[in-house]
Amino acid sequence: MKTLKYKHLFTDLDETLFNSKSLYNEAIRVSYEKLHSFYPKVKYTKFKELFLEVRKDLKETYVHNTISHNRAILFENLLERLGIKSNEEMILEMHEAYWFTVNVYIQLFPGVLETLQKIRDSGIKITAVSDGSLHSRLEKIISLKIADLIDFFVASEEVIYTKPEPQIFELALNKTGAQKNEIIMIGDNFDADIVGAKSFGIDCCWFNPKKKEIPKDSDIKPDFTIVRFPQLLKVLGLKD
Ligand SMILES: [Mg+2]
Repeated sequence: MKTLKYKHLFTDLDETLFNSKSLYNEAIRVSYEKLHSFYPKVKYTKFKELFLEVRKDLKETYVHNTISHNRAILFENLLERLGIKSNEEMILEMHEAYWFTVNVYIQLFPGVLETLQKIRDSGIKITAVSDGSLHSRLEKIISLKIADLIDFFVASEEVIYTKPEPQIFELALNKTGAQKNEIIMIGDNFDADIVGAKSFGIDCCWFNPKKKEIPKDSDIKPDFTIVRFPQLLKVLGLKD
């Protein structure tokens, strides 16, 4: 049996293991329906526009900070922008509807489950390294039914800062007890996953199904690029 270069796989969750964009669109729609039943004058197009606007503003205000992922803060801001003041119940109901929808419809990309299983069977340890609250990461892992395949998990909330900041990678390193040269990170987001991993000093594989270009101003290159998740097996030396 040949020796494997990598003993640890760090994996992103959203848009790497599952399609999150359509999922979040559905979650936005369901949270709108909650609001709409009490405030029928609010149009969906306006609601969605404000949702995206607040999300962008939070990202710009809290750069690389997990707070920017907090949907209760987002809905609170959104209601204020709609001129709806202090409706605590509505914020909570929308927040619950949003995450409930995500966890009901969440589904792995084709081939991901089998690939993770093969990686796990090879003895490589799998660590989820994901931006957001620990609570919502745990819910996603359980809803995806991959808890048995994940050896360790790290949420950016645990260290406040999101990828590409080094703290989340540092915590993952500590939890796994791995050496940097034994690790490969896989993720879809060039700025978060690829720049994050390379800056931290670990190898990385860019999951790039849409064949995006490397940002022109970037001097960072991924060690590997794949367009379908099962191609990861070849990267790891588990398939010729
Ligand atoms: Mg991602």
